Amino acid sequence: MRNELTKRIFFACITVFLMTFGLILYVINTYLVQRNVAELKDSAVLLSSAVNQYGADFLRSVKIGTARITLIDSDGTVLFDSKLNPEKMENHSEREEFQEAIEHGEGDSERYSDSILRKTVNYAVRLDNYQVIRISMNQDTVFRLVVSMLSPVILIVLLMSLLSVVLASESSKKIMKPINQLDPENPDDRNIYSEMKPFIRRLIAQSQQIQHQMQQLQEEHKKQDAIRREFTANVSHELKTPLTSISGFAEIIRDGYVQQKDISHFADNIYKEAQRLMTLVNDILKLSRLEDGVTEIYEDRKSINLLELSQSVCERLALNAQKHDISLSCEGQPVYIIGMPHILEEIIYNICDNAIKYNQPGGFVRLNLYHSENLAVLKVEDNGIGIPEADQKRIFERFYRVNKSHSKEVGGTGLGLSIVKHGMALHHARIELDSEEGKGTCIRLCFPL
Ligand code: ADP
Repeated sequence: MRNELTKRIFFACITVFLMTFGLILYVINTYLVQRNVAELKDSAVLLSSAVNQYGADFLRSVKIGTARITLIDSDGTVLFDSKLNPEKMENHSEREEFQEAIEHGEGDSERYSDSILRKTVNYAVRLDNYQVIRISMNQDTVFRLVVSMLSPVILIVLLMSLLSVVLASESSKKIMKPINQLDPENPDDRNIYSEMKPFIRRLIAQSQQIQHQMQQLQEEHKKQDAIRREFTANVSHELKTPLTSISGFAEIIRDGYVQQKDISHFADNIYKEAQRLMTLVNDILKLSRLEDGVTEIYEDRKSINLLELSQSVCERLALNAQKHDISLSCEGQPVYIIGMPHILEEIIYNICDNAIKYNQPGGFVRLNLYHSENLAVLKVEDNGIGIPEADQKRIFERFYRVNKSHSKEVGGTGLGLSIVKHGMALHHARIELDSEEGKGTCIRLCFPL
């Protein structure tokens, strides 16, 4: 019996068989005893009426099969016994059947003689003179029956065991067959028995879930592939524009089309385009580092005073603001968060730089720091050109610019807010944007405390 199922079925069969066998033996045993007692009773009653009529001497001439007849006096003294010498016998007043007979007229008892294989059944009847006549008979118990038929019994048990093994193995095969035939990738509950249906249904649900997840994963892969391709195309395009200008300017200088006095002007253009290239490459590098999470390896998180950091960014941008006739201010309470200082500085710089770039002469850029509920908030407000509602959702995409030529004019790459978005994600922080075209923009950077 190799498998567990066969073993269990086999033990169930054998248990049922042995229990049935035992119960039947018990019933037979009870029946035999009852029948014997009834026969003894008949004999005892018959004998007692004869002794009542003809006296005790009658007993000496009677023989009832192998039964033993005993006459007991009312005090328990044995007066006569058909098998033993009454003088050598002990007093019988304590015997169960005797006491019952004295009390109720009749009584019976049964006792195991030498072992459980044999038992003595007694029946006693009270005589008119209050002596008691008792008939006893030895009886083989059912166990003796089993012992005497040991070989057929062993044969039957062996046969039944064999049958149980065959039955168990067949049943377990039948139970396992539909399970073994089950296709885990395509479970089907039609050919299965009812106990297995809940399991199969769970299997079906799980397989559907796996398929669904696989699909989602594939879609996700496709999406990321598309994003990567788009990014590569965008980068190539963005790099190409300044490179084309640079090579164009260099070409006409080389071919002698530029007069000596204009050379410095052309050189300045080449310088500006090269600068633009540098900015672009820098931004791309920053962004890809942020996306890969490389920054986290290089930069430790520590406690940072956002007010101090914002003030230092404002100092760096002061000259730029002055050049564009923008008033730049930073106010508020000291606000501490745990973060990466270089990335945070980059975030604040990009937001403030945009607020100056997309502004108008005489405009303002105001930074404010405060706590709100369990957040540290840096609000950057400007009264610049604002962002049209339709574009507001997209400005955090890479290379997305509301007005491409204006952005280029003011030195934008379209990557600033992408860097902000990724940097904020690394800080588990959120960005809120309110803007109205022509009126201005308000960006709130909300950090968990
Ligand atoms: P860029 O390098 O072009 O500034 P960004 O990613 O920083 O790129 O910003 C994306 C676009 O969002 C900008 O081109 C600009 O059109 C718009 N934008 C960003 N900040 C502001 C602002 N404060 N006011 C108006 N428009 C803004």
